[in-house]
Amino acid sequence: MNKTFDELRASGNLPSPAPIGMRILQLTQQEDFSAEEIARTIQADPALTGRLLRVANSSQNATMEPCVTVNEATMRLGVKTVRNIALGFSLISGNRTGKCAGFDYEDYWASSLARAVAAHGIANETGKVPSAEAFVCSLLSQVGRLAFTAAHPERYSEILEETRGQSAAVVSQSEQQAFEIDHREVAAALMREWGLPDTYSEATLDHHDVVLRQSPEQTPSEKLAAVLSAAEQIAEACLADVNGDYVQWTRHWRDMQAVRGWLGLGDEPFAHMCRDIVVMWREWMQLLEMSEREALTPQQIEVRASSHSPSLQEAVDPAEPAVADQATRSVLVADADVEQLREVSECLRTLGYETLIARGGKQALRMVMENSPQVVVAALDLPDLDGLKLCRSLRTFDAGAKTYFLGLATEDSEQEFVAAFDAGVDDCMPKPVNMTLLKARIKGAQRMLELQDRVERDKEEMRKHAMQQSVLSRRLRAASLTDVLTGLPNRRYAMKRMAQEWDNAQRTGADLAVVMLDIDRFKNVNDTYGHDAGDEVLKQTAGMLRENTRKGEDACRLGGEEFLVILRTTGAKRAALAAERIRVAIEQNTVHFGSFNGSVTASFGVAQREPWMKSLDDLLKAVDEMVYTAKSSGRNRVCVRRPDVSAEGNRKAG
Ligand code: GH3
Ligand code: MG
Ligand code: MG
Repeated sequence: MNKTFDELRASGNLPSPAPIGMRILQLTQQEDFSAEEIARTIQADPALTGRLLRVANSSQNATMEPCVTVNEATMRLGVKTVRNIALGFSLISGNRTGKCAGFDYEDYWASSLARAVAAHGIANETGKVPSAEAFVCSLLSQVGRLAFTAAHPERYSEILEETRGQSAAVVSQSEQQAFEIDHREVAAALMREWGLPDTYSEATLDHHDVVLRQSPEQTPSEKLAAVLSAAEQIAEACLADVNGDYVQWTRHWRDMQAVRGWLGLGDEPFAHMCRDIVVMWREWMQLLEMSEREALTPQQIEVRASSHSPSLQEAVDPAEPAVADQATRSVLVADADVEQLREVSECLRTLGYETLIARGGKQALRMVMENSPQVVVAALDLPDLDGLKLCRSLRTFDAGAKTYFLGLATEDSEQEFVAAFDAGVDDCMPKPVNMTLLKARIKGAQRMLELQDRVERDKEEMRKHAMQQSVLSRRLRAASLTDVLTGLPNRRYAMKRMAQEWDNAQRTGADLAVVMLDIDRFKNVNDTYGHDAGDEVLKQTAGMLRENTRKGEDACRLGGEEFLVILRTTGAKRAALAAERIRVAIEQNTVHFGSFNGSVTASFGVAQREPWMKSLDDLLKAVDEMVYTAKSSGRNRVCVRRPDVSAEGNRKAG
C-alpha cells in the first residue's frame, strides 16, 4: 500500500468517475458480474453509449460491420475493456472544471484526448497492444496531475507557475519535493484503486523513461509504455503552440521522426496515420463538446522546421542515427566558407576532437540538437540563420545552453564582438582564424567544460541526496500511519480513511460497510503464556486479515486486540461474508509460540451506512454495538446490523 498516496487521498477529493462510472466499477468488483448488467448500466447513459460505440467501431478493420448496440460492442471488445472505456469517459464528464487556478482543465483534457487518440492509432499500427486499451490508458496517464489540482489546488498552481515550459522530469521533481510523490505515481495508484489492469499502472510509471527502439519491448506493460511514449510525442507535436519558434518545431519534428522510425513506416504512411489521428481527435473533441483548437499535421510541422533547409531529411533521418560518442569530445564547426571550414576542423582534429560540419545556421542548429557537441565554432555570418541567432536559439534549450560557443567574427571589429557577447557567445575571434590562437582558446574552453562537468556531477549528487531525503521523510510519514507491531495501518489512518470514504459515499450514494472485530478472551493469552505470545497472536491475526481482504478493502488495527476493515462500495451482506471468511481463518489458524500451542477466536460486528445516519460516528457506533452483541451472545461469531432503510431509523439490531 502506498501511504503517501493515501495521505493525498485523505487530504482532499481526488478525481473520481461520475456516478455511472462508480456504478460500473462497483459491478465489476463483484466476482460474478455479468456482461448484460454492465451493458444495461451503460445504456442508461446515451452519451456514454455513443462514445463507447465510437471506440468499438474505430478499433477494428473497416470490413467489419459496425456495432450499433452496447452488447455488440461488449462482444467485440470484451467486457473488461468496455468497463475501462466507460470509466475513462465518466471521469472526463465529472472533472471538466476545478478549483486550481493555474491549471487549464480544458487544455488538460484536449491533450489527454490527443494522447489517447494517438495511442489508439499507434496501437492499431503496431498490433502489439489492443488499441482500446491503449486509448484508455493514455487517456488516464496524466490523471495524477488532476489529482494534485484537487488535493492541493494552491500549491499545485504555484508549482505549475514555477515549472512552466520545463521538462517533465523537472515537474516531477518539484512534485516530489512538495508532495513526496509525483503525478505518475499518483496516476498509477488511482488506476490500481479503480481496478484497472496492472499493465496500465506499470506503463504509466515507465513511459517517460522509454527510449523508442533502444530497448526492445518485451512484457505487455513495456509494450504499452512504448505506445504511451510514442503517443505522447505525437500528441505534443500535433498540439504544439502554433506560434512556437524554430527550435520547438525542430524538436517536435525530430521526436516524430523517432516515432516513425520505431514504427518502421515510410513518410507517406506515417503522415497518413498522423492525419487520421488528428481527424479522430477533432471528432472526439466535438463529441465531448470541447471548443475547437488547431492541430498540425507532420507536413505542417516539417514545413515549420525546415522552411529554409533542403537537407532536413538527411539531418534527422533516424535510419542513421548520429549519436555522439560520450567518451570523445566533439565539436561542431559551422561556416559557409569551405576553405576556412576545412582548416578549422583539421586543426581541432589534431586536438583530439571529433568534428561535425555544417554550412548553414539551421543545419548547425539541428546538428547540435542531434549530437550535443561540447563545443560549437561558428561563423557569425552564416547563411539562413546567422551566428548570433544560432547562438540565441541554442541558449533556449538545456543541451544547447551548455555548449561552449566560439563565434568567428567577419573582422576584428569591436561592434561585432559586443553584439556576439550580447547574443551569449562564450568567446569570439576574428577571421581569418589564426590556428595557434584557436588552439589556445579551445584549450581554455576545455578547462571550463571540465569545471562545468564537475559542477554538474555535484549537482547530480545533491539531487540524489535530496531524493533520498524525500524517500526518508516519506517513510517517516508512512510510519506515523502504520502500526509497528502488525504492520497494518493504524487507528489514525483508519479514522482519516473512514472520514474520506464516508464523504465519498455521501456524495455518490455508493455503499459503505465496516467490519469490526475484537479477539476473544485475549487477556487470558497474555496472562497464561506471556505478553510475547499475545503479540504473536496479534501479528498472526493481522496476517489472517491481510490474506482475507481484497483490493479496495482496508484492514487496520484500531488498538489493543481490536481491528477494523473498511469495505468501499459494499453493503452489509457482502461485508458479512468477508467477516465470516476472516472469522473462520482466525479460528482455524494455530499459533505456536513458546508454550502456547492453540488458536484464538474473535467476535465480529458488521454495519453499513444507512439513510438515517447523520455522521460517521453513527456508523462506528452501530458497528461497535454489533461487536458487543456478538460478545454477549457467546463470542466467536459475526453479528450484522440489519440495515434500516427508513430515514429515521429505529436502531434495531439484526
Ligand atoms: P473479550 O473476549 O471480552 O474481548 O476479552 P479480552 O480479554 O479479549 O478483553 P480485555 O479488553 O479484557 O483484554 C484485552 C487485553 O489486551 C488487555 C491488554 O493487556 C491486552 N493488550 C492490548 N494491547 C496489547 C498488545 O499490543 N500486546 C499484547 N500482548 N497485549 C495487548
Ligand atoms: Mg477489546
Ligand atoms: Mg477482546
